[in-house]
Amino acid sequence: MTEPLPPGAVIGILGGGQLGRMLAMAAARLGMRAHVLDPGEDPPAAQVAWRHSRAPFDDLAALAAFGRAVDVATYEFENIPVAAVEAVARHAPVRPGEAPLAVAQDRLDEKDFLSGLGLATARYARVDGPDDIAAALAHTGAPALLKTRRMGYDGKGQARIAGPGNAATAWRAIGAVPAILEAHVPFTAELSVIGARGMDGAVVCYDPGLNTHEDGILRTTRVPAPLPRSRLQDAVLATGHILNALDYVGVIGVEFFAAPEGLIVNEFAPRVHNSGHWSQAGCAVDQFEQHVRAICGWPLGDGVRHADVAMTNLIGAADEDWPALAAEPGAQLHLYGKAESRPGRKMGHVNRVGPRS
Ligand code: AMP
Repeated sequence: MTEPLPPGAVIGILGGGQLGRMLAMAAARLGMRAHVLDPGEDPPAAQVAWRHSRAPFDDLAALAAFGRAVDVATYEFENIPVAAVEAVARHAPVRPGEAPLAVAQDRLDEKDFLSGLGLATARYARVDGPDDIAAALAHTGAPALLKTRRMGYDGKGQARIAGPGNAATAWRAIGAVPAILEAHVPFTAELSVIGARGMDGAVVCYDPGLNTHEDGILRTTRVPAPLPRSRLQDAVLATGHILNALDYVGVIGVEFFAAPEGLIVNEFAPRVHNSGHWSQAGCAVDQFEQHVRAICGWPLGDGVRHADVAMTNLIGAADEDWPALAAEPGAQLHLYGKAESRPGRKMGHVNRVGPRS
């Protein structure tokens, strides 16, 4: 194993959104310097980073220069082109690497990978054109969801199919691109686990959170999740299994459905995750510091939950309530420094903290 990077090291972050911002802040707390690469003029992460290289993710010369200027690099969103990560990886280690990113970017590869590990997923079938949908529906059953294989997030690139009659409309609705059809899971709850794996192979998982979504966007995460202990343990074990199978270094977010037939893995994100923001108020070491520790080869920190936390995203104009939130007892407010709010845009979040129950 290589030596841990010492304080003062430069952490490269591909992507300058709120996740990059909170990674940069965690890096600074450990005496590290964050260097962010993002095409934006004033991205949230650049406001708190040591350096900002303003370049698009297909500028290979800028990516190479960035790779030469950092000691280790990571990425904060999963739709970053794999080629961009490869360009940086020629000059500096990128953790987690290209492999988890490539799997997570393609819903079909991701489902094949998860089911190959023996984990339960929704029934699914490959769809390359509208004519594949009838056979796919025969496999999944109806209702089902047609999802683009690539570039889907926050419920985008998805269409519900009630039966074969909807096939052509659904295909057009997702933009007529390669897709998968997934059985609609009649879940009773959505959960996620934030896990971390260090360079020495150590694994730390945070307590599973109970998630609620509105319009496909995460709205709240609550810990502890009010589910049977055995169900929660299954989610943690599945997360450890995924981390080990990917030989992963860093933090991952794994999303699950709790269904009558058991726990079903929906998807994973190879990065820090919105549903892990509660750890900022609930744990000695939050997911952002954990990620920095992991990619720098440091020992993983204490992720044991010491409080009950309800995390609420501030979406659209919700951040305008900041004066009331700032005055609220037990509330930890996070604002992302975004100049403009738009419907559906994440502007901040609030962690409401109480004693551990
Ligand atoms: P995704 O982009 O796959 O995370 O989907 C966004 C949201 O859509 C999920 O958090 C669920 O609420 C819902 N969803 C996705 N896939 C399914 C499914 N197979 N069955 C039921 N609901 C789903």
